[in-house]
Amino acid sequence: MEKAKYIWMDGDFVEWDEAKVHVLTHTLHYGNGVFEGTRAYKTDNGLAIFRLKDHTKRLLNSAKITVIKCPYTLEELERAQIELLRKNDFKSNVYIRPLIYLGYGIMGLYHVKAPVNVAIAAWEWGSYLGDDGLENGIRVKISSFTRNSVKSTMGKAKAVANYLNSQMAKYEALEAGYEEALLLDEEGFIAEGSGECFFIVRDGVLITPPNDNSLESITQDTVLKIAEKKGIKIERRRITRDEVYICDEAFFTGTAAEVTPIKEVDGRVVGNGKRGEVTRELQSAYFDVVYGRDKDFEYMLTYI
Ligand code: PMP
Repeated sequence: MEKAKYIWMDGDFVEWDEAKVHVLTHTLHYGNGVFEGTRAYKTDNGLAIFRLKDHTKRLLNSAKITVIKCPYTLEELERAQIELLRKNDFKSNVYIRPLIYLGYGIMGLYHVKAPVNVAIAAWEWGSYLGDDGLENGIRVKISSFTRNSVKSTMGKAKAVANYLNSQMAKYEALEAGYEEALLLDEEGFIAEGSGECFFIVRDGVLITPPNDNSLESITQDTVLKIAEKKGIKIERRRITRDEVYICDEAFFTGTAAEVTPIKEVDGRVVGNGKRGEVTRELQSAYFDVVYGRDKDFEYMLTYI
């Protein structure tokens, strides 16, 4: 990982190597913490954070869901992220990782008296699933892990604890020689990737599941808005694994993954085994949006 100069911790800018926590930090033991993943792109008009307000709102909503009282307001957290990027003087695209966690002070499961800490790190980060993946697509395996059940975990929260499920699925997929995992829900319908939402294209129609069993993805929402503007027909409905095997195109969306084509699922070639035409069009439009080249969506950018 590329080190930056400073990390924001509870209102202060701390040198990267000094941004430390106590080993009895509550979240480390019991897993109640919430976080975000946000990107900033080097546009022609300088670095711009993509959908800053939406990511920061989701962060605070995640904290509300898991009963963590964040000591900072939406505006304060937005300002902190902007100031952090200014202070670090980044030269290329950046990934921002805000984390609200329970700190050092009490032990035991009852967490409400634990101190709440907030940290925001940012560093220069390229494509998550590789530049080759963005262009040529990745190989995906349907996971043997079911996506966290809505009966026992809360998937609308981007909660630290939810990522054990994602991590195990990712590990299994990579160990088996694939590049990403696709998780089904308890009923066997497609839920999401380990850190991405999922789309297919069939006969020119763009299909993505509702967010019943996935995070409310900001990238998914952006792609749907782009598709709407382009007049592409959209369906929000459940998808079965066999439908994935016979779709024309498939891709993942996520802040880190951006729009990543899928060329193969479980040894079945998707479409012609290359990035599909609709995928290419949406991916290219997505990059136009995040780089501020599409005036209709410039409201999604916060220039720092
Ligand atoms: N699902 C999961 C489990 C994720 O971790 C992410 C990444 N935040 C997504 C979906 C995609 O969400 P977004 O587009 O808001 O990054």
